Amino acid sequence: MEKYLYEKLKLLTYAAYYDQTCSSVEKVNKYPIYYSNVAYNNQVRKVGLLKLLYTNICKYNCSYCINRRESNIPRAIFTPEEIAKITLEFYNKKLINGLFLSSAIYKSEEYTASKLLETIKLLREKYNFKGYIHVKIMPNISKELINEISKYASRVSINIEMPSEKSLKLFAPEKNKNSIIKPMKYIGELFYFFKTERKKYKKAPKILPSGHTTQMIIGASEEDDKQILTLSKYLYDKFHLHRVYFSAIRPIETSNPLINKIKKPPIEREVVLYQADFLIRRYNFSVSDFFKTTNNLPQNIDPKLWYALENIDLFPVEITKADYDTLIRVPGIGKKTAKTIIKLRKNSYIDLNILSQIYFPLKKAIYFITINGKYYGDFDFSNKEKIMEKFKLKIKNKYYPNYFKYNFKLKSQPLDEYLFTTEEI
Ligand code: SF4
Repeated sequence: MEKYLYEKLKLLTYAAYYDQTCSSVEKVNKYPIYYSNVAYNNQVRKVGLLKLLYTNICKYNCSYCINRRESNIPRAIFTPEEIAKITLEFYNKKLINGLFLSSAIYKSEEYTASKLLETIKLLREKYNFKGYIHVKIMPNISKELINEISKYASRVSINIEMPSEKSLKLFAPEKNKNSIIKPMKYIGELFYFFKTERKKYKKAPKILPSGHTTQMIIGASEEDDKQILTLSKYLYDKFHLHRVYFSAIRPIETSNPLINKIKKPPIEREVVLYQADFLIRRYNFSVSDFFKTTNNLPQNIDPKLWYALENIDLFPVEITKADYDTLIRVPGIGKKTAKTIIKLRKNSYIDLNILSQIYFPLKKAIYFITINGKYYGDFDFSNKEKIMEKFKLKIKNKYYPNYFKYNFKLKSQPLDEYLFTTEEI
């Protein structure tokens, strides 16, 4: 790779660090490659993406963003041909499965989006690129441009940015809610239409096979977890979104007092929001299930355990009789375990011994279940207030017994680790 191209790559992959595309981030061979679980070629699998910006030159000045107009940083811009060349090089070396292409807003939204379209068209048509492509949609662009990008992309996303219109006005006053919601709504309709068509006709075109997503910055503005999860649930229901990514605000150098007063990036908050969001999407939890006594999830505690403590009246659950929907709400019992229990109890008597022989997370679940009427945990369910009091105290003091301390893999790698040197290319 030529030196000038390498320099641009270094700058514009670093600039893309702030754009969230997935909930897990890893590095392979010291390259800035991100891994995301996506529905791809009809199955959910982990794909490695080269994540870069077309340019970091921006006409906007969003206060939370390192690429904003007033930011004193080196700037660069690729040509579509250069991005295609780099992507193919990484793809052919089997370092990536695809490309995540985003951009700052250069000249205009429509102009920038047309450059992203040109890039992916080149990749698909000229170079016959078969890999995964995720493209960022710019606010306020025309339906025609969205249609064209959707023909070539595997997934698109438009960032909702902040959890409320009020915060958007405060942190990004040049943007407005409608310029984001309108294209998001249109993409949702487009995605849903073709998804339904594909069910009816096998030959219907594969438009956006991996759906569309959005990103929300958390921890900068005042919205609580209940408001954030209520908004993400609304977006799933209304616009058929595949995922809402929560991005804890990252510290950047700025004179803006709004950003400067944010002391520490609340990574733990991002983790519990992802976990609660997962339970809402996959386990049929409602947002209100988590917020009986507080509007914020305790950090460093699994939201399913928090739900059980908040709704302690519903426990213990009799494992030999409870239906599937009740079983999957017990801390430690997932969908697979619930199915195994139901299958097992049809044909045999269940007791503690039998449960210990199958893969059953007794350590976590034992406090919330009875087995044939017998309780093996040490909660006093005749005094439920005491259980709550005891745990609330522990949560406040950030002390949890081992069996409740779930291990979070925090993605708090220093930024430097995302850079790489010429020799490594
Ligand atoms: S438009 Fe995007 S790149 Fe530009 S300042 Fe705002 S968030 Fe940053």
